[in-house]
Amino acid sequence: MTEPDAARLQIHVRRVASGDGTLESEPEVYCPPRDKSMPVSDCESCEDYAGSGIDLDAGRNFVLCRRLTSESARSLRAARRAYIGRRMTVEGTSPSERTPVTEIMTSDVLCVREDLPLSQLARLLLDRGVTGAPVVNERGEPIGVVSQHDVLGVDRPATVGEVMTRLTFVLPESASISQAAALMSFEGVHRLPIVSDDGKVVGIVSPLDILRWLARLDGYLMPERR
Ligand code: SF4
Repeated sequence: MTEPDAARLQIHVRRVASGDGTLESEPEVYCPPRDKSMPVSDCESCEDYAGSGIDLDAGRNFVLCRRLTSESARSLRAARRAYIGRRMTVEGTSPSERTPVTEIMTSDVLCVREDLPLSQLARLLLDRGVTGAPVVNERGEPIGVVSQHDVLGVDRPATVGEVMTRLTFVLPESASISQAAALMSFEGVHRLPIVSDDGKVVGIVSPLDILRWLARLDGYLMPERR
C-alpha cells in the first residue's frame, strides 16, 4: 500500500447464519481514537480512512487509518496494556496480563441465530472447521453458545434455540489473556465470546488459542489462525 505512515487496524468479521438460509457478514474494526468497534462502512466514510488491504502473512484484512501512525498505534496498545496490568495485579505484570485477548481471539467468527435448524448448524460447523459458535440476537449480541455436542443425540428436527446453552459469560475486548484463562478455567467453559462496548460479538477465544499463544511465547512456530 502507499500509506506508509497510516496504522494498520485489523478487521474482525461477525458472520451470522439464520434459519431463513441467510449468512450475513458484518466486518468491523476497533477504532482506537473512539475506543470502540465500529462497522468498516463507517470507517470508510471517516476523513482519516486511507484504504484497506490484506496481510498475506497473517491472512488478515486491515484498514489503514491516517489518524494513527504505526508508532502511535503501538503506543496506544502499550498504554492500554499497562492500564490492564495496573488494574489486575499487585506486584508486576506477566505477558498474559499485558496482552489483550483480542490479539489471540478468532476474529472471523461464525455466529448463529436461534432459529437455525440443527442440520444446517452441523454443516456450518463442519465447513468452518469449528466445534461451536455463539448464538446472537438480531443486534449481534450473544445470548448463548452452541456446540457440536449439543447436536449429538437429537433425533428429531430441532433448532439451535432448543439445544443451546444460555449465555452466562462474555469478556470485553479490553480484557487480557490472563482474564480469559481465569474465567474459562474457573467456570469450566470451552469458548468465550469477546464483545465490544455495545455488546456485539467481535471474536471468540478458546483454550486452544491460549495454548498456541503460550507455545509461540516459548519460541515454537505456530500457524496463524484467523
Ligand atoms: S479511519 Fe476514522 S473511524 Fe476508522 S479507525 Fe481511523 S479514526 Fe477510526
